[in-house]
Amino acid sequence: MPASTPLSILQDVFGYAAFRGAQQAIIDHVVTGGDALVLMPTGGGKSLCYQVPAIQRHLNERGVAIVVSPLIALMHDQVGALEEAGVHAAFLNSSLTMEEAQRIEREMMAGRLVLLYAAPERITTPRFLAQLDSLHERGLLSLFAIDEAHCVSQWGHDFREDYLGLNVLHERFADVPRIALTATADDLTRADIIERLQLQSARIFISSFDRPNIRYAIVEKDNARTQLLRFIQDEHEGDAGIVYCQSRKKVEETAAWLEGEGIAALPYHAGLDAAVRKKHQDRFLREDSIVMVATIAFGMGIDKPDVRFVAHLDLPKNIEGYYQETGRAGRDGLPANAWMAYGLADVVNQRRMIEDSPAAEEFKRGQRGKLDALLALAEAHDCRRVRLLAYFGENTERCAAYQNACDNCQNAPATWDATEAARKALSCIYRFHQNRGQRFGAGHLIDVLRGKVTDKVTQFHHQELSTFGIGADVSEAQWRAVLRQLIALGHVQTEGEYNTLELTATARDVLRGDVQLLLRQPSEAPRRARAARGSTAAGKSSGAKDRAPPVALDADGLERFTALKAWRAEIAREHNLPAYIVFHDATLAEMARAHPQSLDELAGISGVGAKKLEAYGREILRVLSGGAQPEPTDR
Ligand code: ADP
Ligand code: ZN
Repeated sequence: MPASTPLSILQDVFGYAAFRGAQQAIIDHVVTGGDALVLMPTGGGKSLCYQVPAIQRHLNERGVAIVVSPLIALMHDQVGALEEAGVHAAFLNSSLTMEEAQRIEREMMAGRLVLLYAAPERITTPRFLAQLDSLHERGLLSLFAIDEAHCVSQWGHDFREDYLGLNVLHERFADVPRIALTATADDLTRADIIERLQLQSARIFISSFDRPNIRYAIVEKDNARTQLLRFIQDEHEGDAGIVYCQSRKKVEETAAWLEGEGIAALPYHAGLDAAVRKKHQDRFLREDSIVMVATIAFGMGIDKPDVRFVAHLDLPKNIEGYYQETGRAGRDGLPANAWMAYGLADVVNQRRMIEDSPAAEEFKRGQRGKLDALLALAEAHDCRRVRLLAYFGENTERCAAYQNACDNCQNAPATWDATEAARKALSCIYRFHQNRGQRFGAGHLIDVLRGKVTDKVTQFHHQELSTFGIGADVSEAQWRAVLRQLIALGHVQTEGEYNTLELTATARDVLRGDVQLLLRQPSEAPRRARAARGSTAAGKSSGAKDRAPPVALDADGLERFTALKAWRAEIAREHNLPAYIVFHDATLAEMARAHPQSLDELAGISGVGAKKLEAYGREILRVLSGGAQPEPTDR
């Protein structure tokens, strides 16, 4: 047998032609015993960075790689994917019977396993450490991979106490290489990982965090639910996606509403029963076109590759959160959408949550700064991608030339000079206040500025104010944008239950004309035409079958693609695994397009490794030939 190299492993085992980005350099470093910290965006291909070294070192008689993974619920599928590719892997967790666990421990202790997945709380038990000692003494401990390494840091919302105990790995097994991986890019988290996992001498590999296949779009809230529905119907009929909401209540309401509109939607939040959560997660992973409506409790470790969109109905806390959440779209590299609807209330709520929290002033200041950066992104009229990456310290060109350019690059928004309007709004708030210290919310302010005679206007004699009707030429949507900006920039703050408006000390600068405001022109009132489709589309055949393949196919190709998907669904059911673990959509589509006639030709398709070729090759050729020929010709 010819000696294996990382490249031959990539090709034979995983069926991929070439390494991506820094993969090769990382793998070479770890194979030769070096420690590594890998910062790579979601979908960048982190798993192969430890799986290939684990296989290579196993072939060199170095035994078992230990993979630290935070979520026991997801180990099953990860191990399933490896076994499908012919790699001897297993997990140890509480879902196993005693017999199963004992069998796996025997495989591990004999050094026969290539990879073993376990949660940190198991790995740091005295019993498990003693087993590792025994492997280590016999030279059968090949490496440690610490996945989702940012869980060691208190800065993010994924902090796990048990990760802190992992420094024992370095103290006890100093000569065993360690590779820590994360998609969290900020400096604080990185410093925490290095310090707490004692990775001071590790080589750091930082990849570009650009996700070229994701299109970023942020729209102004008009009627957010309807906007969401239209977005799904227009662009993602039958696709899997995630919709993030802030509260549990909104999660449930939104899921129920989408369901009523004929979209297969499920709720997910920490308040649901563990069994319900698991059931919903399984369905999301296993079925083709579930929309998961969730709080941020959902997402970490979800490596479903064909999530086609991530939508935000509420503003995330900061850009780190936004980027991590949107990053769950399009791991397979095919076009995907990150869509967010945001409005005045989001700005107000997020500000309030910071102000009302019991945290120290210094901490609040940090949070305000982060929120401001996010608001600037939302209000931006230039390239979203440039802004996102700049936040993570990366310089890029605007993405206009990308296949999946951001909304602003695709369609440059018109801007208008709102400096004068902002001054009018502030002086109107000031007039209210002069009037016996009265305070009002945004709705009433806009009515007064636009000169609308409402009950409230009459009640408070506001037609008599000098500011009544001074902004009739500015539309309501524009006024809302002005207020969003003024609040976002901290010139106005909101108070109390009714979110009444109040000037801050810096409002004076705006009134004096020292602050220039250039705003994006609110988009046209949304078209209603497509929305009507919702009622007729509701209850029609499940979207999965109508779903467009990821490459353009002619009619025959489409038929082959559909047949392959049906075949794959059967295999997935038999093996109790999500369909994408058998083959990705992209791989099936390429089979349908290329229409290989022999096992050799089939082997050339990206995603078809040796084991899968052997296990499924003949079946696939049969399906591709319409099931007509009973026996395909041999190689
Ligand atoms: P991450 O863990 O960084 O989010 P994954 O390891 O899940 O990313 O990889 C994302 C997808 O990219 C997976 O479907 C994986 O099979 C695929 N992939 C990774 N590396 C390569 C490569 N060199 N060639 C082709 N596909 C790859
Ligand atoms: Zn752009």
